[in-house]
Amino acid sequence: MDILILAVVIALVAVGAISGLVVSSRKKKQLPPSAPPSTPTITAPPAEPQVGEDAAPPKDEARRTIEEVELPDAPVVVEEPVVEPEPEAPALDVPEPTAGRLVRLRARLARSQNSLGKGLLTLLSRDNLDEDTWEEIEDTLLTADVGVAPTQELVERLRERVRVLGTRTPDELRTLLREELLNLVGTDFDRAVKTESGVDTPGVVMVVGVNGTGKTTTTGKLARVLVADGRSVVLGAADTFRAAAADQLQTWGDRVGARTVRGPEGGDPASIAFDAVKEGIAEGADVVLIDTAGRLHTKTGLMDELGKVKRVVEKHGPLDEVLLVLDATTGQNGLVQARVFAEVVDITGIVLTKLDGTAKGGIVVAVQRELGVPVKLVGLGEGADDLAPFEPEAFVDALIGD
Ligand code: GDP
Repeated sequence: MDILILAVVIALVAVGAISGLVVSSRKKKQLPPSAPPSTPTITAPPAEPQVGEDAAPPKDEARRTIEEVELPDAPVVVEEPVVEPEPEAPALDVPEPTAGRLVRLRARLARSQNSLGKGLLTLLSRDNLDEDTWEEIEDTLLTADVGVAPTQELVERLRERVRVLGTRTPDELRTLLREELLNLVGTDFDRAVKTESGVDTPGVVMVVGVNGTGKTTTTGKLARVLVADGRSVVLGAADTFRAAAADQLQTWGDRVGARTVRGPEGGDPASIAFDAVKEGIAEGADVVLIDTAGRLHTKTGLMDELGKVKRVVEKHGPLDEVLLVLDATTGQNGLVQARVFAEVVDITGIVLTKLDGTAKGGIVVAVQRELGVPVKLVGLGEGADDLAPFEPEAFVDALIGD
């Protein structure tokens, strides 16, 4: 009995010692590495007696047992710092290459231009090319907004060549019409968008046009065209008149990694344009594109506004391009706009938007005649890469169809 009591006492002492060791061991773990190790000196109790064993093992055996218990380090709970995941930088778009875009979009162009090219071919293929037929040819051209003078010139030349040709095969007619339309659209213009005037400064392009024509969209798409061609771009949101125009432009810029310089709604467009070019110079950007407001409130108002933008931009260096955006679906109205803008600023190139939605592709011819400057880009849809460099051959081929 005495032995049993002794065993229980020893067991209790052992439990106390073990828990003391564990606590001490935890504390040790929490100390800095330089802290002196705590060396608890504990006389360990013997292990629980097992059936058939002597209740009280010798003291040194008991110590060995407790040392074995003590050996494994108590688990140390190290709290991991909570790391908030970094907000992922939005993945940049990779715009489509610009070469051959017009060919890619040809089907879209052809669909909307059918009435012009196909209509002309059908009429010219008639056995009897009488006066009525020539009048129909003339009407077809006028309806497609080719304009009066260019229409008369074309009909004149077609008449002459058909007469010389005598009998006509469909292939001959197609070739003839293709040549004459190409002649009308013009193959001599330099249609490249110029952006390389400055040696150390970015090229500066100002985009003008009546609101609603697709000006901001075109500026955004043009940024993509330039990025696709390996240029770096800064955007200037100088259309402070239309609510959300700056947001819209910035969204376009963000998608291709182009910074957008903007100001408050209703702010001074000229100072934003100035800052945008300044930013472009500071960044070492290749091109600065400036979107402007196109309010046709009064011609003087427009002139004041665009003139000022132009003047302040030119404090940094010459402007490379002033692109006029025209909505191809507006027909003659577009020509009126073109005239007004041309009086206010020197237009160097035309962007014809929404050609995908109209059969009035003849406006290409009319507006070039009107302003004496080339169509450089055409918009063929609302998709991000639906802006194509204008190529006369691809355009005329689309007009005539296969
Ligand atoms: P802004 O007021 O002149 O800046 O006009 P926006 O750039 O806001 O464009 C007006 C509308 O025209 C938008 O819905 C554009 O998506 C649309 N748009 C622009 N270009 C084209 C184009 O080439 N084809 C078609 N179908 N829509 C276009």
